[in-house]
Amino acid sequence: MVNLINNLNKNKIINNLQEIHISQFKDKNNKMFGFKAIGTNTTSNNFCLKMYNPKSKAKVNKTNLEDNINLMNYVKICNFNKWCNFTLWTKRKDIINKFFDKHQKPDNLIIVYSNPIIDKPIYEAFGYFDKVFNNVTEDNLKDLQNCTGQRCIDCLRCYNKSDDIKDNIIFEKTKKQKKDSKNICESCYSHRSINYRHHTMKPPLQRNSDLLTKELKEIQIPKIIDRFFRFNHHGELIS
Ligand code: SF4
Repeated sequence: MVNLINNLNKNKIINNLQEIHISQFKDKNNKMFGFKAIGTNTTSNNFCLKMYNPKSKAKVNKTNLEDNINLMNYVKICNFNKWCNFTLWTKRKDIINKFFDKHQKPDNLIIVYSNPIIDKPIYEAFGYFDKVFNNVTEDNLKDLQNCTGQRCIDCLRCYNKSDDIKDNIIFEKTKKQKKDSKNICESCYSHRSINYRHHTMKPPLQRNSDLLTKELKEIQIPKIIDRFFRFNHHGELIS
């Protein structure tokens, strides 16, 4: 199993309130070795379902994005843990733009635009996005591939703010690509692994999906002792 999840299936309760599940990466061969992260369930998120299968009938909610509760909870976690840099990967430009037009973006939150189209790189960060993550096929733009084959802990490019464009525009070789599709989500590793390891992966990720779509109480906001942390190693912002 690539992603070691701590306290698997344990439903921790504090003061009668459920606790957010935090995943830890302990496998030295995993790209995210040494990191902790909060993830959600891609297989119950309508945006992910639609991106994974464009023929899906899932309907993406586009209302109240300016007060999106999932993002509000992430902002609360950032503000509560100011010593830690949090990086959020997202394709939801609509949520990010509307939300931060209204709310203050924490200084310790780095937002990476996860470009869904393979071999169509974006060369500049924009709006509230600090960085862009591009996927390219193996032999394309080899000189620019600054993420391929590395572990985050040895690199940290995505976890530190920078004025240098080389640090803000990331290129990684696509690991798996669906034949005849340029949409990275159609080859989503998360859907495949959750469906495959249904019994162990789904409960903690779904618990987070449920908890993060309601306003977290102060006591539920996790205290993070790490210097770097990732939001959404699985899943997307939920609307
Ligand atoms: S570029 Fe970002 S995702 Fe790639 S190894 Fe570095 S920190 Fe990790």
